[in-house]
Amino acid sequence: MDCIFCKIVKGEIPSTKVYEDEMILAFRDIDPKAPSHVVIIPKEHYANIVEIPANSGVMEAVLNAIKEVAKAEDVVDSGFRIINNYKSDGGQSVDHVHFHMLGKRSLQWPPG
Ligand code: 5GP
Ligand code: ZN
Repeated sequence: MDCIFCKIVKGEIPSTKVYEDEMILAFRDIDPKAPSHVVIIPKEHYANIVEIPANSGVMEAVLNAIKEVAKAEDVVDSGFRIINNYKSDGGQSVDHVHFHMLGKRSLQWPPG
């Protein structure tokens, strides 16, 4: 399958790793939208958040990774935002489910 993020998981495309465990990889976004912009993905390919099976443990692993990345990025106290862009209206451009973690600047609400 021709998936950029699967290639990053396999090491075929280089990335700057921030956190990794058995199920999760977190790496720096190539086009950062904040001073800290980390992309958190399950290593297993799911096209989007709706494709993740309930009770699969994937979201539990994502939650754990969010906490670990927040610590590593030193944004536990200052704050951060988690974003999942889903399909066209959500602005998803890579069809391997991922969660953006933005921090180290004050973010606007609502988003554009
Ligand atoms: P989406 O728009 O699907 O929510 O987010 C995809 C993100 O992946 C974008 O923020 C984009 O900058 C990032 N991205 C796309 N290709 C690569 C890549 O090859 N390496 C890294 N590190 N990030 C990428
Ligand atoms: Zn993939």
